[in-house]
Parts: sequence; C-alpha cells; structure tokens
Amino acid sequence: MFGAIEAGGTKFVCAVGTGPENILSEIRFPTTTPDETLQKCMAFFQEQSKIYTLGAIGIACFGPIDLDQKSPTYGYITSTPKPGWQNTSMVKFFQNTLQIPVAFDTDVNAAALAESCWGAGQGFDPLLYLTIGTGIGGGGIVNGSPLHGLLHPEMGHISIPHDWQADPFPGNCPFHGDCFEGLASGPAMKQRWGKPAETLPDNHPAWFLEANYIARALANLIYVVSPRRIILGGGVMQNLALFPLIHTEVQKALNQYIQSPAILENVETYIVPPALGNRAGILGALALAMSIR
Ligand code: ADP
Ligand code: ZN
Repeated sequence: MFGAIEAGGTKFVCAVGTGPENILSEIRFPTTTPDETLQKCMAFFQEQSKIYTLGAIGIACFGPIDLDQKSPTYGYITSTPKPGWQNTSMVKFFQNTLQIPVAFDTDVNAAALAESCWGAGQGFDPLLYLTIGTGIGGGGIVNGSPLHGLLHPEMGHISIPHDWQADPFPGNCPFHGDCFEGLASGPAMKQRWGKPAETLPDNHPAWFLEANYIARALANLIYVVSPRRIILGGGVMQNLALFPLIHTEVQKALNQYIQSPAILENVETYIVPPALGNRAGILGALALAMSIR
C-alpha cells in the first residue's frame, strides 16, 4: 500500500491505495496553518498504518518548492505567496515520523504523472499538463519521469505577445505583470472583465482573447518541449467551449511550421481535457509514491 498527499493552497487530501480503482481510505480538510494541517495528515497516516503497511508516501505540492536533493532545504515549500507557508518543511516531517520513503513533486508534475499512468497521457511522452485556474502552472513527463532542473518548470510565467491596444489590462502577476499567468489566469479574467470567468457567456470576447493567449503559450511550449500530447485542466478549462477555440488558435500560431499530423490533422486529440478530472492531484501523489524504487 502507498500513501498520498495532495497539498493544495485551499485544501489538503490524504489517501491510501494503489491506483484509481483501489483507493482504500481518503480524507480531506481545508488548508490552515502548516502545523495544524500537517498534524492532521500525520494523524491520518498513523491511523492507517495500524491497518496497512505503507511502502512510501507521495506529496503533490503547491509551490514553488525545493526539489534539489542536495539542497539543505530539499522538500521545502519555498517562496510561496501563501501566508504562513514560506519555508515549510514537508518531506522530513513525514520521513522522520513515519520512517518510510517520501516522494515529493509539484502538483502539476504529479498531475502529469497520474494522467500518464492512468489517464489521457497514456502512451504520450513527452507529455505536458497545464492547469489554468487561480494561477497557471505546467508539469511535464519526459522519458517517463517528471521534468526537473534547476528548480522545476514554471510554464505559467513565460512571455507571450500582449497587444496593449486590443487588451489594455496590464496583467496581474506580482513578479512580471503581463506574463502568461498575469494575462490568462482566472483572477486575471475576473479583473479584466469585472466578473468571474464562470459567469461570462460563451460568445463573450473574453473567451476569444483567452484562447489566443493560451494558444500563444502552447505554441512556445510546443517549440521547446515537442510534447506528444498536451492536457489542459484547472477551473478556467472547465469551460469546454475553450478547447475548439484553442485548437484553431494553436494551428494559426504555428502556421503549419510543425509538420505533424497530430497538429495539422488531429489537433482535437492533441490538446485535450484531463481524463482524471479533479482526481489528478491525489492520484498524482499516489503515482509519485509508487514510482520510488
Ligand atoms: P486553483 O487553481 O486554486 O486550484 P481552480 O483550478 O478551481 O483553482 O481555478 C479557479 C479559477 O477558475 C477561478 O478564477 C474561477 O473563476 C475559474 N473557474 C471556475 N469554474 C469555472 C468555469 N466553469 N468556467 C470558467 N472559469 C471557471
Ligand atoms: Zn509571472
């Protein structure tokens, strides 16, 4: 058996199991202070350990996080804007108390891994998974493993063309203003149009602009990573009417330069919604735990 923690900015989910069809126990609670929240996780796993032998625990975590095994702050949440959570040690806390291996990665790398094991990413490598919600984040699977480097990819903060005349909204990223996240996150849509995205009708110009921004970002990611499939999840992508708009705009942005039938002929199966829906986070944490060797 394996343990899983989806550590989110608003809620935590803990589970025990071996896959989507075999989750034996699960609990969820709101994210409060690090102390209180991590204690709740610990209480759950200590209880579960009386019934099951856990081989490892995986943590799919909001970020930014330190993934460098050689760093003194490996396993920490680092510079998050979430109050109280800066410099929180996630890995050692569980390792020391439960005495089992702990796998740790970003929520989006974990979601990409879950989709690649059990969902819409099966058989597609490299695979990209982007969430477009309160923020924009991207994870990737390359040669079967989550993509790491100096830190981890920050696909939400790439630069995309911003036509100030057509869209005078300056962007709301505290670091970069009009980066991808600053222009296209859910809160950016709300600030630009004065209403939450979910209340804007499908024929509102907001969706054409949004599809264009997402497509420009995807074109850059396609050039850099050459993914075999891209999965788009998160709150904003719950408006499925965005998908056909994005398909058209991606083809326009690439302008037939990438000569692959996946994009030229089958773009609707190239850029797709997640198959695991809102289960990708917790299943990603489980997949991380199961990938420890
Ligand atoms: P988080 O990124 O915090 O995990 P979500 O992925 O749920 O949260 O994204 C929340 C954002 O998604 C909000 O900005 C909200 O306005 C937007 N959103 C939620 N539902 C919809 C919907 N059906 N259509 C478009 N936008 C939505
Ligand atoms: Zn930014």
